[in-house]
Amino acid sequence: MKEIQSNITIVGGGLIGAAAAYSLSKLGKKIVILEQKSKFNRKKILDKRTTAISEGTKKFLEEINIWKNINKHAEPIKKIQIIDRNQSNKIFFDNERRKSNLGYIVKNEFILDSLYKELEKQKNIKIFNNIAIKDIFYESNRIVSKHNNFCINSNVLLASDGKNSSVRKIFKTPIYNKDYKRKAVVINFYHSKNHDNTAYEFFLKNGPLAILPMQKNKNYFQSSIVWTNTNEFINSLLLLDDGKIINILNDKIKGSLGTIKKIISKQIFPLKAHLNSKFFEKRIVYLGDSAHSFHPIAGQGWNLGMQDVENFYNLVKKYNSLGLEIGDEIFCKEYHKNNFFKAYRLYQITDKVDRIFKFDNVGFNYLRFSVINFLERGKKTKNRISDFAMGIN
Ligand SMILES: Cc1cc2nc3c(=O)[nH]c(=O)nc-3n(C[C@H](O)[C@H](O)[C@H](O)COP(=O)(O)OP(=O)(O)OC[C@H]3O[C@@H](n4cnc5c(N)ncnc54)[C@H](O)[C@@H]3O)c2cc1C
Repeated sequence: MKEIQSNITIVGGGLIGAAAAYSLSKLGKKIVILEQKSKFNRKKILDKRTTAISEGTKKFLEEINIWKNINKHAEPIKKIQIIDRNQSNKIFFDNERRKSNLGYIVKNEFILDSLYKELEKQKNIKIFNNIAIKDIFYESNRIVSKHNNFCINSNVLLASDGKNSSVRKIFKTPIYNKDYKRKAVVINFYHSKNHDNTAYEFFLKNGPLAILPMQKNKNYFQSSIVWTNTNEFINSLLLLDDGKIINILNDKIKGSLGTIKKIISKQIFPLKAHLNSKFFEKRIVYLGDSAHSFHPIAGQGWNLGMQDVENFYNLVKKYNSLGLEIGDEIFCKEYHKNNFFKAYRLYQITDKVDRIFKFDNVGFNYLRFSVINFLERGKKTKNRISDFAMGIN
């Protein structure tokens, strides 16, 4: 059986695994990626979602020299409007104070495409497609994954195999999880009026509806809606023809983008969140959705995963400079210590904000009205919220 020696084995070449591999290749590490799907091909990708990239993530992408490639496909968010179900009750964010954008909207397929084009050029990265991890064991101070006719022997295994992580199942790492018993529908569409780089979040009775400004496609203004609602509503919405869906959406977004002209794509995602009780096992660390997933109300899941990537990258850099080997117990525990609390905090915030905005009785409606009013007037609190959303807090 052929044995491949590497420093780091990455399980899962999605948005997080690919970014981790690219950043770590800059530190001269030998890396193997195992991805259960076939070779990445942008033209065949089914995920039509967009990601709101925060300013904090952008800074790290600049540091590892990949932002210039992603930026070509990014539409800046310059303003955010949060609108309660009572339309006159609004919070308005811009970023005059920091003279920067509030974030960037990029289609997931372009983030992956930019990363894969660079990964394929790196001599210290080997990508195996159509390989799902199943057999992992230890050999003295190394971790080994075994496949049909080869095995990979490394210092540390990085699990970035998503929400239903196989690595987590193999090692029985406990998790806290929550099924919201709801769905999010993501609809990309053309509209008549320029979005003016504004993102909207409507807090409707049955769940939030976000509109994210996308890059213009030829002559068409384009945006993406992420609408959370009950399973029954989303299922029946998608049974309607596009004309009827457009009428419903036009009614909800109240002319913010003129009128909706055409639906480009529709996709449904069940809403579940989880948090691993720890972000490591012996010679294994969990990154991105394999460690945590959140209600998409704040659009921060990938951004937080990118903070895992950045912290892992900085830890490897530190170990390199001290001449230490990566992957031992102290290393894995330090990674956990740097990342767990941030994930716990976001898990709680997204969960509670969703709950508060769903309550619907006279008392709560008045309370929500007062809080929104207070936030709109209070500059300091507003600045703190926008710093948090930008990933710089
Ligand atoms: C509706 C919605 C909107 C969102 N919007 C935003 C947003 O605006 N901003 C934001 O920051 N986040 C957002 N998120 C969250 C974001 O999409 C995720 O956090 C991110 O995609 C996680 O990336 P990942 O690489 O960890 O996992 P995945 O993207 O799930 O990748 C996992 C990879 O591992 C592979 N894999 C799985 N099992 C195995 C195995 N056994 N062996 C080998 N490979 C395996 C898979 O094929 C896949 O390629 C949103 C989420 C949803 C549901």
